[in-house]
Amino acid sequence: MSSRTTAPSQDAATATARAAAQAHAAAPALAGLPLPERAALLRGLSHTLGENAAHLAAVAEDETRLGVDRLRGEIRRTQAQLEMFADVAEAGAFLDVMIDPPDPSAQPAPRPDIRRMLVPLGPVAVFSASNFPFAFSVLGGDTASALAAGCPVVVKAHEGHPRLSDLTGELAAEVLPAGVLSVVHGREEGRSLVTHPAIRAVGFTGSTAGGRALFDLAGSRPDPIPFYGELGSVNPVVVTPAACAARGADIVREYIASVSLGQGQFCTKPGLLFLPAEHALEDHLRRAVAAVPPAPLLGSWISTAYRATLEELATHPAVRSVHRAPTPDDARASVPALLATTAESVRAHPELLQECFGPASLIITYTTTEDLLATLHTLPGSLTATVHGQEHQDEPLARLLAAALHTGRLIWNGWPTGVAVTPAMHHGGPWPATTSPLHTSVGSRAITRWMRPIAYQNMPEQLLPAPLQRANPWNVPQQVDDARRTVPPGRAAS
Ligand code: NAP
Repeated sequence: MSSRTTAPSQDAATATARAAAQAHAAAPALAGLPLPERAALLRGLSHTLGENAAHLAAVAEDETRLGVDRLRGEIRRTQAQLEMFADVAEAGAFLDVMIDPPDPSAQPAPRPDIRRMLVPLGPVAVFSASNFPFAFSVLGGDTASALAAGCPVVVKAHEGHPRLSDLTGELAAEVLPAGVLSVVHGREEGRSLVTHPAIRAVGFTGSTAGGRALFDLAGSRPDPIPFYGELGSVNPVVVTPAACAARGADIVREYIASVSLGQGQFCTKPGLLFLPAEHALEDHLRRAVAAVPPAPLLGSWISTAYRATLEELATHPAVRSVHRAPTPDDARASVPALLATTAESVRAHPELLQECFGPASLIITYTTTEDLLATLHTLPGSLTATVHGQEHQDEPLARLLAAALHTGRLIWNGWPTGVAVTPAMHHGGPWPATTSPLHTSVGSRAITRWMRPIAYQNMPEQLLPAPLQRANPWNVPQQVDDARRTVPPGRAAS
């Protein structure tokens, strides 16, 4: 089902309430669906995306101007995410079943039968992203992981691609049972979704300001709910003196390519480049940025915000401009730019450490290892941090850098743009990169955001959920603690 409402808050509340009530009604059946059937739903969603890829990409291109090739690639990635979560659901290990058999002879007290597993939280609200109309939107990673966990989803569409959101929601409705996935539109609807009693958790991909506003709203409910915000990030890149001397020109060329990929509209775009003060690479950098052609940004709201942040940074007294493209007539076009400052200035002006969502970045020159480390310690938490170093020569320095960088993903001699969808991937990080540093929104562990543990004590076999029963009818991995542990004398059992 998909609903579109542009009217004031009364209608917004009504449309949201309808979607949330349908999700609430659909939740028990989805939670109880045997895992192979749950997996089949996810594979069905992947199949429908593939079958309709050409039309979906055309609608997405019309709304986002991200380029058809990139969009087709993003559809394949979204299919891979759905299929990965189908495999995760089917394997059953995500239920994290732990069984402690009873021990009547345990001291100082007999031990009861304890069986623990994860259960779905219930309906989830997903706020989709502007810059990933497929991979972080209606059928993106948040939705795939929530459905795999057994949670219905209500998506708050991003207004950068409303038609695509409705179309994707309609295709999904042909695959899923009624009420399992709905799409709503509008800022008011988003807010009423976060406060609706049926909604049990929120996944958000967007700006730090928007995420913080909704996080606060989720926390202000009479019954606060988990809010997983994947937000903005400055993604520092540090080049050691040895790497700068050995391959500085290549590094800065690749750096600008990473900054300008997708016109810099990635949350993993590297925004800060730390170079030794004696780097002598400014001509290489200037030429590389000058070669980046201006192109349309996702929408005029992104373009306006980008130009305002760039202006604020470029006119800061501690900053000089290395290169800034002339402002084009097209209000939606990007203005590729490279600015420069020093590590000392950054420590004095922490306001320079802000995300500029678009094809701009800031070079920060450092004089000594102490100057570099002192500045890295002041950086906000980030989704990624990158070190370019020389493997053997730089080992002691690399250890210091790894300890100083406050990040969710540390990259050695590579680039942060492009997030591999693999089980071990971590796409998260300390505030302000996310509102919940314990979790990831990419990779198979993303499913744990939508589940909570419950322990059953001395429950009769027939009253236990299937994954906890001795007969194990769902055939899921069960971790059984057979060690007859004894609590040491003097320690109370709790
Ligand atoms: P945004 O402005 O925060 O919008 C995201 C969503 O939040 C939209 O649905 C928007 O509603 C809603 N929203 C924003 N402020 C709100 C408020 N005060 N109250 C209620 N709802 C609110 O984000 P964006 O500009 O589209 O995206 C760019 C940002 O996303 C960048 O900072 C980028 O780094 C980040 N991002 C992060 C990741 C990640 O994985 N960490 C991935 C992609 C992008 P409307 O549609 O009604 O405006």
